Amino acid sequence: MNTEQPTFRSGFVSIIGRPNVGKSTLLNRILGQKIAIASPKPQTTRNRILGIHNLDDGQILFLDTPGIHRATGKLNRYMVDQAMAACADVDVVLFLIEATDRPGGGDDFILDVLSRSSVPVILVINKIDQVAPEALLPLIEIYAQKRDFAAIIPISGLKGRGVDALVKATYDLLPPGPRYYPEDMVTDLPERFIVAEMVREQILKQVRDEVPYGVAVVVESFTEKPDKDLVVIAAAILVEREPHKKIILGKGGEKIRAIGKAARVDIERMLGTRVYLELFVKVQKNWTESDKLLKEFGYE
Ligand code: GDP
Ligand code: MG
Repeated sequence: MNTEQPTFRSGFVSIIGRPNVGKSTLLNRILGQKIAIASPKPQTTRNRILGIHNLDDGQILFLDTPGIHRATGKLNRYMVDQAMAACADVDVVLFLIEATDRPGGGDDFILDVLSRSSVPVILVINKIDQVAPEALLPLIEIYAQKRDFAAIIPISGLKGRGVDALVKATYDLLPPGPRYYPEDMVTDLPERFIVAEMVREQILKQVRDEVPYGVAVVVESFTEKPDKDLVVIAAAILVEREPHKKIILGKGGEKIRAIGKAARVDIERMLGTRVYLELFVKVQKNWTESDKLLKEFGYE
């Protein structure tokens, strides 16, 4: 009779790849809830996000890297920095590309950096819902020649296809280790931070033009009323200029109401309670340039 306990495995896993390739969407899908904001606009994820995936026999700690890149000219540099940071002190790297990609460009920079590290890399071909199955094989062949990947796994983070196989392959590469974080934790980020990010996500989605990039969201109060199954949240949306305030408010306040309504749905789902969300807009000149303010808002 085999009485041995199954091995408990744990470790850190970086998710890297070009902005917009689907890193945050994948992380949210794996965790089964939204912690990393995802949007069609690049440079959505400003901070490193830790997603904790708890299993009976393991704990996988996913790191979603920020997608900041202001100037396209700096994108390659950014990709190199991102890849270097992502390889340090992790057990596995998930390198995301898109099924519609033609190899080359920025992705080669990442491959180059990865080739200098001994960390196992899984090539994740995302967005397979956008291509015919036959399109995958040539892509796989090209990438397989570039490097010895620990695995090559096609997925659709959006639809969930292939994600279980990816999690399994990732788990198999982890060393035996402890449960680093309590089992009921999904992220190391405070709830206030996620709430602010959910509001910011709706601003990115619902406000066009360049305004959203100069926007920060700060949760000013967060009050639990357990007897009423309610959380009351007040959050300030900081903008740099007066005209931006008008845009966020919208005609008769309809824009900010729509932002608040959509964000509330996400926040209620995350917290599992009813939420009363009060949003207001403040003009705070040059907050994006002030180091002190940036730190205060958690943007390191
Ligand atoms: P990130 O910048 O790498 O974190 O990318 P996001 O997760 O923010 O995703 C960027 C955009 O790609 C969003 O509009 C997502 O909805 C979309 N996206 C992500 N995964 C998939 C996928 O598997 N299929 C399709 N069709 N779209 C996806
Ligand atoms: Mg992202």
